[in-house]
Amino acid sequence: MVRIGILGAGGRMGRALIAASASHEDLSIAALVDRPGTLVGGWLPPGAPPLGDDASAAARLCDVLIDFTAPTALAGNLAAAAEGGCAIVIGTTGLEPSHHAAIDEAAAGLAVLQSANTSLGVNLLAILVEQACSRLGDSWDVEIVELHHRQKADAPSGTALMLGQAAARGRGVDLEASAVRGRDGIIGPRSRGAIGLASLRGGTAAGDHLVLLAGDGERIELGHRAESRDIFANGALAAATWLAKQPAGRYTMRDMLGL
Ligand code: NAD
Repeated sequence: MVRIGILGAGGRMGRALIAASASHEDLSIAALVDRPGTLVGGWLPPGAPPLGDDASAAARLCDVLIDFTAPTALAGNLAAAAEGGCAIVIGTTGLEPSHHAAIDEAAAGLAVLQSANTSLGVNLLAILVEQACSRLGDSWDVEIVELHHRQKADAPSGTALMLGQAAARGRGVDLEASAVRGRDGIIGPRSRGAIGLASLRGGTAAGDHLVLLAGDGERIELGHRAESRDIFANGALAAATWLAKQPAGRYTMRDMLGL
């Protein structure tokens, strides 16, 4: 039985993880953590541990931490996992290069799986995008459009960036050098080879992504729609069970899914 600790337990994803855990018989929830001031847990299911605010104390009770919080919490969560000697699944998005450097450093001593999207469907979509872009030349324009709920903190979404990375890998180019993030204020034609990213925010959408490959006289549309957060929660819980058996290192959902 793998003992997990959920960081960000009171949030949208935290609650989805708690609910989904009931159907994962190979794990148990040993600790729930959120920020001080958000610790009223009357909504918790019977038998759940109480909400705490100390990730280090949680890590000592767990085999794997699952982090769906905010980028500002990442350093503390990595330190807690290292102190407690447990693995960590990172689902938080909006990560900057400095966060990725911290993850690389931590992964020298512990098993870390970081993914901006823990669903099977999006990870498969990323492979399809990479393959399509490796076969289509840069006369095919790549545009990535995403829609998320009105509360989402970061734009473009981590998933849109992940799909952009897949497109860039397929083309053998660097995403940062090719990305055009929104076109407001740009006057003039599209530059050849650009990978466009556009974000929409509204309502309660859990996450829609469309990768548009637009050629001369034809278009390919590859997309994914999340109908609920259960797909992210189930993927993250399966990742936690898998990660508990892995040696130190940095992993992705692709490693876990064997894609
Ligand atoms: P949310 O705002 O509903 O929940 C975040 C929770 O984290 C809140 O309860 C907040 O109090 C808590 N938190 C913030 N800082 C904290 C800290 N320092 N210590 C402890 N708790 C802290 O957000 P959400 O919709 O649940 O999303 C959380 C993150 O997961 C976001 O970055 C989001 O983009 C990402 N996300 C990833 C995936 C994926 O598949 N990887 C899917 C959905 C959302």
